[in-house]
Amino acid sequence: MFLKKLVKPSVFALKNVSGQGQVLAAAAARQQHSQPSASMRPETSTAKSLMDIGTRRIFNEDHDIFRQSVRRFYQEEVVPHHNEWEKAGQVSRELWEKAGEQGLLGVMTPEEHGGIGGDAFSAAVTWEEQMYSNCSGPGFALHSDIVIPYIVKYGSKEQIERFIPAMTAGKCIGAIAMTEPGAGSDLQGVRTHAKKDGSDWILNGNKVFITNGWMADLVVVVTVTNREAKTAAHGISLFLVEEGMKGFQKGRKLDKIGLKAQDTAELFFEDVRLPASALLGELDKGFYYLMNELPQERLLIADMGIASCEFMFEETRNYVLQRKAFGKTIAHLQTVQHKLAELKTEICVGRAFIDNCIQLFAEKRLDPSTASMAKYWATDLQNKVATQCLQLHGGWGYMLEYPIAKAFVDSRVQPIYGGTNEIMKELIARAIVSQK
Ligand SMILES: Cc1cc2nc3c(=O)[nH]c(=O)nc-3n(C[C@H](O)[C@H](O)[C@H](O)COP(=O)(O)OP(=O)(O)OC[C@H]3O[C@@H](n4cnc5c(N)ncnc54)[C@H](O)[C@@H]3O)c2cc1C
Repeated sequence: MFLKKLVKPSVFALKNVSGQGQVLAAAAARQQHSQPSASMRPETSTAKSLMDIGTRRIFNEDHDIFRQSVRRFYQEEVVPHHNEWEKAGQVSRELWEKAGEQGLLGVMTPEEHGGIGGDAFSAAVTWEEQMYSNCSGPGFALHSDIVIPYIVKYGSKEQIERFIPAMTAGKCIGAIAMTEPGAGSDLQGVRTHAKKDGSDWILNGNKVFITNGWMADLVVVVTVTNREAKTAAHGISLFLVEEGMKGFQKGRKLDKIGLKAQDTAELFFEDVRLPASALLGELDKGFYYLMNELPQERLLIADMGIASCEFMFEETRNYVLQRKAFGKTIAHLQTVQHKLAELKTEICVGRAFIDNCIQLFAEKRLDPSTASMAKYWATDLQNKVATQCLQLHGGWGYMLEYPIAKAFVDSRVQPIYGGTNEIMKELIARAIVSQK
């Protein structure tokens, strides 16, 4: 494994997950954030490239080493296969297991729960490197930093022991099913319902647009458990539904305009018998758990959004420096130069805010309203940058063989999922008016 050769033993520890080979553990060293060397690090605005390793004060040298290894993983294990996975509408299972072996799944999950035991900054490295590779197929971020935290925070000891080591190893792929054909933004409108039958539950309903849905071995399903509750929010619970349970069916992989290698799917539940042990956390507390966890989901979407901007900017800088028109490279044109200046400025401003949010998140101080600002602003910027960088590529930008075209179509969903940007503004506005 290349990581073993690359990283210092003091930085990464070898760890055995579920007896299925060794994974590299992100060292607890990252919990000890080294501020003195951090002050010497350049910010992206002064770096040679917006994707340079060794930049940004929120990181330290350990993160740089980790970043190198993640970057190499994407270049060696993902980039060469991505076109083929786009045609298949999913990545391979083998990739998940390789990511597990390399210690790239569940990076932030505490070691005592079967995770890697790294910090929030290490998780951010994995989000960003995926965007720098321009390969949107692997649903690792959702699995690691959205699904796993629900189980770690609200799961029983048995649920944690059963699922987390397998999820960290990439042997058990996770998904979360909130959205339904008739309920997306308004989660209180979900109809998927579980009825008590002795100590079991009988689950009926269907979900749509579920990331990792086709490959999922384990799905956190948002379910109504009490129709008589004083509000819908008080009658929602989370259940862990496993692949192979009778009555659990996966529908088609949905045909999307972007994220072509992501297995977004429909899920159907018809009289699925769930044991009492499938309930995640307490009965009727599901909505409360969702509200607690959504800031983290929004931060990772935001960070991936800015990382995508950084990738698109560098792609475009390279393009205009070699593309000729009227006897010179188009980088000589002042209008092109000013456009690049505007883009770089906006991306660096965005990066500063998102880095601040990552820092707040690491300190457990990121509030829902700030996370919503990050998600809305970063993903709107991502779409603006995508449009303008594609424009600077001319007709070639419209061709899918060019990375900018793929980044453009992949960007479009960012203001939609994880709560639409309109809903983000609702949340931000609510906090503003309730403060007076
Ligand atoms: C590729 C992809 C992957 C996804 N992955 C997942 C997943 O893994 N799990 C999951 O559960 N869901 C997932 N989703 C679903 C996603 O979260 C929803 O699509 C999103 O929350 C919007 O819901 P909706 O599609 O029902 O739109 P609607 O709620 O019908 O919204 C339609 C429009 O109305 C606007 N609107 C609605 N309410 C308001 C309001 N109060 N004020 C202002 N405007 C409003 C919206 O902003 C939007 O523009 C995914 C979606 C996509 C496309």
